[in-house]
Amino acid sequence: MHIILMGPPGAGKGTQAEKLVEEFKVRHISTGDMFRAAVKAGTELGKEAKKYMDAGGLVPDVVTIGIVRESLSKPECKEGFMLDGFPRTLEQAEALDGILKELGIELDGVVNISVPDAELVGRVTGRRICRSCGATFHVSFNPSRVEGVCDKCGGSLYQRDDDSEATVKNRLAAYHAQTEPLIAYYKQQGVYKGIDGLQAIDKVYADVKASLGK
Ligand code: ADP
Ligand code: AMP
Repeated sequence: MHIILMGPPGAGKGTQAEKLVEEFKVRHISTGDMFRAAVKAGTELGKEAKKYMDAGGLVPDVVTIGIVRESLSKPECKEGFMLDGFPRTLEQAEALDGILKELGIELDGVVNISVPDAELVGRVTGRRICRSCGATFHVSFNPSRVEGVCDKCGGSLYQRDDDSEATVKNRLAAYHAQTEPLIAYYKQQGVYKGIDGLQAIDKVYADVKASLGK
């Protein structure tokens, strides 16, 4: 399985990715997770990325394409991967096409989860993530059994710095200006799969799997 998960911030990409990883053991490549790990580790990449993440903007293409190229070049990616949050610009999509061509890999599908902006603000501001295993919850829509504690591993839940109402507005603007045009790009390639992300998490998952013929 070589797929891309696309959609605006808060659409449910990470939530669906967790399920796909559990069921299909597919390698999950999230550029957002990679940047957050770099910020936490205090590396030069992290310091550079943080400036853009805090403002709700996109990290420059040259930086982002570099880390994805490195990741996809690992031999295990030949067997399968799920890109989450990449590509986000036309330049990234074109670079990805080139990388995949070099590696002799064809995409099985670009799964785009659509959710209207009005719903996304509440999803993003209510999101909580486990510090230990990265599992995603929502204070109202997908609450953990015990407040602040991960159901899966018992780790503590936190709120991302960029999950504030002010930042999410900028992230949505970046999505509409820079990422949404990729829908037409992948429709033209014949690999586009549109999913209604307003449905319950399990129903979205059923549709994602069906769109991939699973
Ligand atoms: P993304 O990775 O696309 O930014 P997430 O998967 O982190 O989005 O989901 C954003 C928030 O919305 C999380 O708190 C998650 O629990 C919640 N969520 C995800 N899918 C749904 C859904 N179908 N219905 C309601 N809430 C959802
Ligand atoms: P995410 O975890 O996908 O919501 O991403 C969090 C933040 O990381 C984004 O708001 C961007 O600042 C940055 N980021 C993640 N992926 C990309 C990408 N493909 N291109 C540019 N910036 C990205």
